[in-house]
Formats: sequence, C-alpha cells, structure tokens
Amino acid sequence: MFECKRCGFCCKGKSTISLSKEEIIRISNFLNLSESEFLKKYTIKKEPFRIEMKVKNDFCIFFDKKERACKIHPVKPDKCKEWPLIPAIFKDKTNFEIIKKSCKGLKKIKWEELNFIKNLHK
Ligand code: SF4
Ligand code: SF4
Repeated sequence: MFECKRCGFCCKGKSTISLSKEEIIRISNFLNLSESEFLKKYTIKKEPFRIEMKVKNDFCIFFDKKERACKIHPVKPDKCKEWPLIPAIFKDKTNFEIIKKSCKGLKKIKWEELNFIKNLHK
C-alpha cells in the first residue's frame, strides 16, 4: 500500500504548482487571511493567469522542513493531494517507473498492484 515517507521531494524545486481560484479562497480562509493578503504573502504571479506558491530555500513556502510535512495539509491544492497517484502512472508503466524513482513511498510497489491501491484511495 502507498505510504508517504515524507521525503519532501514533491515539495522541492524552483517552482510550485499553479493555484486555482477555489484553492486560493480555500487556503486564505484556512490561514485567516483575506485573499489579497494571502496572495501577497504566499504567492507569486508567473504568467498573466498563473499564480504559484512561493519557493523558500528551495521548497514550497508551506513545507515544514522540521516536521517534514505540509503546513496547510487539510486544504492543500488538489494536485498535492493527488500526488503521486496521478492518472498518468495508472495508464503507463513507463510513467510509473519514472515517478517511482523520485517518490520513496512508491519504492516497494509494483505497477501491477496500482489498481488495487487506486481502489483503496477512492
Ligand atoms: S515524494 Fe512521495 S514519499 Fe516523498 S513526500 Fe512526496 S509523496 Fe511523500
Ligand atoms: S502545498 Fe504542501 S504539499 Fe503542496 S507543494 Fe506546498 S508544501 Fe508540498
């Protein structure tokens, strides 16, 4: 069964995922901030329609390095909730093997077992 090992790899990088309007409202509410306060403090505009969470010391600003956990876990963006069980790894074994190399939680899982795991997460 998949279990996140809290390695932090998926929260690390020079950029983060883009946020939808619904996610911006959800996270702002969780942090007790107005939308504009949240956008100013925690996000960066990359393109006219792309708003990303800021990166701090190579990690998403919401990654708690000490706890190895997401500070906004209950309301984190949908793509973060989904990772690494994204549709592409169920469709294609090659995708699975690539993502498996970077996600310690997938290390002991075989591609053939994935559909069983998917059903558990429904
Ligand atoms: S890469 Fe995988 S094991 Fe590491 S924190 Fe992300 S989901 Fe968890
Ligand atoms: S919101 Fe949380 S889970 Fe998503 S990249 Fe940032 S720290 Fe990681």
